[in-house]
Amino acid sequence: MERCAKCKKSKNIIHLGYTPYTVCQNCFSDMIERRIKANIRFFGPLKKGEKGFLIENDFRPVADFIIKKTFHKEFFSLTNNRDEADVLIDCRSMEEIVADFLDKVLKNESIVSSNIFIFCDIPFDELIQYSRINGIKLENPKKKELNEILNSIQIQFSVIASFKNLIKSINSPSSSHSSPS
Ligand SMILES: [Zn+2]
Repeated sequence: MERCAKCKKSKNIIHLGYTPYTVCQNCFSDMIERRIKANIRFFGPLKKGEKGFLIENDFRPVADFIIKKTFHKEFFSLTNNRDEADVLIDCRSMEEIVADFLDKVLKNESIVSSNIFIFCDIPFDELIQYSRINGIKLENPKKKELNEILNSIQIQFSVIASFKNLIKSINSPSSSHSSPS
């Protein structure tokens, strides 16, 4: 019988496709939420009382659901007014961020951003699965078509690792890229 690699239970098992491990729905949701918290810490961190604005995207409802579930409103809340937001939250899936990042690199365009890429290492299919498990309604999201080389999820994860390193080095105060103020 198939069991969850984390909690060892055999109820509500799901398959992730790119790994031989099977997990249950609870552990899967937990895993996604942990990754999101780590991304918020990485690209943030958020300060107490700050307000975030979710940039329009198919997966905006997922970001809304997870942020409301994770943060107490006193610490961090969302606003529908972009002008009063302290931080912008990018709700694109990993595939979209990979494609956009590589495109910018190839065109030698700036990738400077102070946004929080909340789903940068969450593949499209996992966002769909998370939404289904947690009853989040989505408006028919379409998967970003990537070229053959980028079709491997492992390659996408390594592109994201470079993306994160680059953003971190640009944003760090000691960086030589920082502009004098
Ligand atoms: Zn489990």
